[in-house]
Amino acid sequence: MSSKSIELYGVPWDEKSSFMRGCRDAPHKIWDAFNCESANRCSESGISLAKSEVLRFQGTLPLASGNQVVKEIETAAASIAAAGTLPIFLGGDHAITYPLIKGLHRSYPDLNILHFDAHPDLYDEIHGDRFSHGCPMARIMEEKLATRLVSVGIRTMTPHQRSQADLFGVEIVDMISLVSTPPLIFEGPLYVSLDLDVLDPAFAPGISHHEPGGLTTRELIRVIQNVQGAVVGADIVEYNPYRDIQNMTAMVAAKLMKELAAKMLSQP
Ligand code: MN
Ligand code: MN
Repeated sequence: MSSKSIELYGVPWDEKSSFMRGCRDAPHKIWDAFNCESANRCSESGISLAKSEVLRFQGTLPLASGNQVVKEIETAAASIAAAGTLPIFLGGDHAITYPLIKGLHRSYPDLNILHFDAHPDLYDEIHGDRFSHGCPMARIMEEKLATRLVSVGIRTMTPHQRSQADLFGVEIVDMISLVSTPPLIFEGPLYVSLDLDVLDPAFAPGISHHEPGGLTTRELIRVIQNVQGAVVGADIVEYNPYRDIQNMTAMVAAKLMKELAAKMLSQP
């Protein structure tokens, strides 16, 4: 294996959730699930993530409250990317992704985004808030922070969000047209933003917005494993421990974290 390593950062911010809070307490729950004695710490391809030289939890970012958090997350992400590490950010709700991308963009001006979600997150604003967790992809595309945005698993398109997708050139792989998940090929650095509600709530009930008809855990893992591109960072967002059943969604998040980490470590 190469000398690359993964650094995990908790981003405990859920003030921008439009329906229900709780994601702020997710990062440590996912880390605990990863370390649970019921499972080992290898990816399906056999890459061990057990040693801290390979994968280490750097704790949660110190965040204040209010809109200044947007700047705090951006600044933290910029310095993490400048250090040349491979970060996985554990949210928090999906509002964290806009400032994360804004920070990473300084090191990766030609960044692509692969976005898994039930929702396109392209609202111009929600209840007057342009930093809502329903808006991050609109902000990212408006500011031209992504070369390509490919959104997979979408099943909640409104007319407004469809016109936003057209305006910004978002590539939508929605559930209604998804028969088998196509191989996704990216040129240049790739960031994976994984909203856990892309999964059917039968597989991941510990989220705030239950949207039936989503991907199976197996389908999502297969898409991640088959992505062609150099993944330089990722986030896993919207885990809400207060909606979970027996920590089962925390285990799903930890499993997806292992597969994302293996992907990042195994690429040339
Ligand atoms: Mn989302
Ligand atoms: Mn969502």
